[in-house]
Amino acid sequence: MVRIKGVIAPDEHARGKAHTRRTVRFRSISGRLLELLLQSSAQTHPKEFSGILSSKTPGVIDDLLLIPGTVSGDRHAIVQFANVASGRQIVGSVHSHPSPYPFPSEADLGFFSRIGDVHIIVAHPYTRRSWRAWSSAGEELTLQVVV
Ligand code: ZN
Repeated sequence: MVRIKGVIAPDEHARGKAHTRRTVRFRSISGRLLELLLQSSAQTHPKEFSGILSSKTPGVIDDLLLIPGTVSGDRHAIVQFANVASGRQIVGSVHSHPSPYPFPSEADLGFFSRIGDVHIIVAHPYTRRSWRAWSSAGEELTLQVVV
């Protein structure tokens, strides 16, 4: 487990260019959003669920952006969407693995480096014990689940 310390400066939070910074500033995820990610992953099984993690509360990942018309597993569309999603805080990404292994593949790491700085992988069977969070560099992150 790697714990990354970060402090949010209000101006940085508003800028939304998190992927250019090395410090991970989001270390908390709302329990409500986590449940949504687990449910969405389960409903999409055996296909892959994916989306963009966003935030309405400083320091807390609590919002999900879905890309209309995105084909399951098509993460190129997500990167393209993120590039034009000005005004929305892009924290990182979420996608599911139909396998029981929540570890990033080489392709995942290439994707992570292009959008945001916190990346969640939800693995089968999509429970609170079967997900993990990763930095853009592929280091495991500890996210606190908050109400
Ligand atoms: Zn993956």
